[in-house]
Amino acid sequence: MSTPKLAAASAAKARNILDKIPAQSDGNKPRKVTVYVGRVPLTVDEPEWCRGHQGDDAHVSNLEDFHHIGHAAEIPVPQPDGTALGGMSVVLMQWPFSAPGDNKQPYLSVEDDGTGQAAALDSVAGMAFADRLRAYADEVECKARQLAVMEQLGGQA
Ligand SMILES: [Zn+2]
Repeated sequence: MSTPKLAAASAAKARNILDKIPAQSDGNKPRKVTVYVGRVPLTVDEPEWCRGHQGDDAHVSNLEDFHHIGHAAEIPVPQPDGTALGGMSVVLMQWPFSAPGDNKQPYLSVEDDGTGQAAALDSVAGMAFADRLRAYADEVECKARQLAVMEQLGGQA
């Protein structure tokens, strides 16, 4: 249960985030994109946040398989050799021709392990997840500082 003070803080945070999202280049003219369902060209509205449809992303076998996908926010896990493990990826996604309630509206797709299995979050769940990530970052920093102390003491703390 949120208090009015927390609700006001959340609204202010949402406004702050919305202010950072670029305005649509031409709000009166939605972008269009041509995709192929089988061999049949289909022109559909393209949301500003979609990264576009080239190559395989422009071809689907069934109309229900067509989906918009935004640019990914990723957090790869660094390895000592400079490479990185897959880590987590978050993207805006929408399957506009799917059945109602089946991700027909935009949502946040959160994949944590590169398996293709992803959670579908609405904006409220996405904001709550972002809050947990900030707390998680603080916890990781705390552990890194704890390790730094151990390293200074020669592995003993
Ligand atoms: Zn798209």
